[in-house]
Amino acid sequence: MQKISGTDLAKRLRHDMKAEVAALKEAGRQIGLAVVLVGHDPASEIYVANKEKACQEVGIVSRKIVLPENISEADLLTEVAQLNADPAIHGILVQLPLPKHIDENKVICAISPEKDVDGFSPVNLGRLLIGQKAFVPCTPQGCMALLEAAGLSPEGKKAVVIGRSNIVGKPMALLLMQANATVTVCHSKTRDLANELAQADILVVAIGKAGFIQPDQVKDGAVIIDVGINRNKDGKVCGDVDEAAFLAANKDVALTPVPGGVGPMTITMLLKNTILAEAAAFTAKEGR
Ligand code: NDP
Repeated sequence: MQKISGTDLAKRLRHDMKAEVAALKEAGRQIGLAVVLVGHDPASEIYVANKEKACQEVGIVSRKIVLPENISEADLLTEVAQLNADPAIHGILVQLPLPKHIDENKVICAISPEKDVDGFSPVNLGRLLIGQKAFVPCTPQGCMALLEAAGLSPEGKKAVVIGRSNIVGKPMALLLMQANATVTVCHSKTRDLANELAQADILVVAIGKAGFIQPDQVKDGAVIIDVGINRNKDGKVCGDVDEAAFLAANKDVALTPVPGGVGPMTITMLLKNTILAEAAAFTAKEGR
């Protein structure tokens, strides 16, 4: 079994980004990302801390805005509007999930498409669908970068994506299709998942079930991207693929580990999108 390391790729990419951001700073351009956290969800706090750390690593200024759990939807929308208008902020990220009394869609739609570095807004997802320039959601973008790093061109391959969420499964399927793979999207109502799995040259698993994929379900030579983040019985972080079983079977596949696979690439693509957002804002300002 070959491991495709997201940690190594993320390190290389962030090294290059650091140099790029430093050169921009020399030229008087400071890149800013606002990260909005509502309430005290422990997992969200960890994600936000990791994003802040990554920004620091490459020299992007991160502005963390912590808002109370009971903030009204209207006040949160006002906060987003202020960030939309703030020229020092190039990317806005509202950490999900939001408290139940707030309509997540409304908040995502309120972020200016030009600052929507998560790529979750209907505008950016729509642009992606029709092949226009868009902020591509970070996790699927990171998965594509991992495939490329593994030297695998999706062209002509049979790709199977398990999971159809708006932030992972659907955009992943679009990116693979745009890269000329033949794509099948599976979900909880798929009738013969085993048959679909057995045909996959590229398998992207994004369901959130620890150890769901076993070695005997996948063909030799497959490339597997494990997006899942779960906790196993011992409380350790693990993916949707039973990595230990693949290792024990000495299965001939290439697999992204969890942790150390898609996770670091997701944050790296957030940095990339933020750098792109600043570049677009700069060009728009200069062009005026
Ligand atoms: P969602 O819960 O939104 O979607 C899960 C998808 O999996 C759904 O489409 C669901 O089908 C499908 N599914 C669930 N059970 C099965 C099953 N038994 N067989 C086939 N399909 C199934 O999750 P997300 O897309 O947001 O995230 C998926 C996983 O990826 C999670 O573990 C999450 O933590 C992780 N994640 C990791 C990231 C990273 O950076 N590494 C970033 C984002 C997410 P249906 O639609 O029919 O319900």
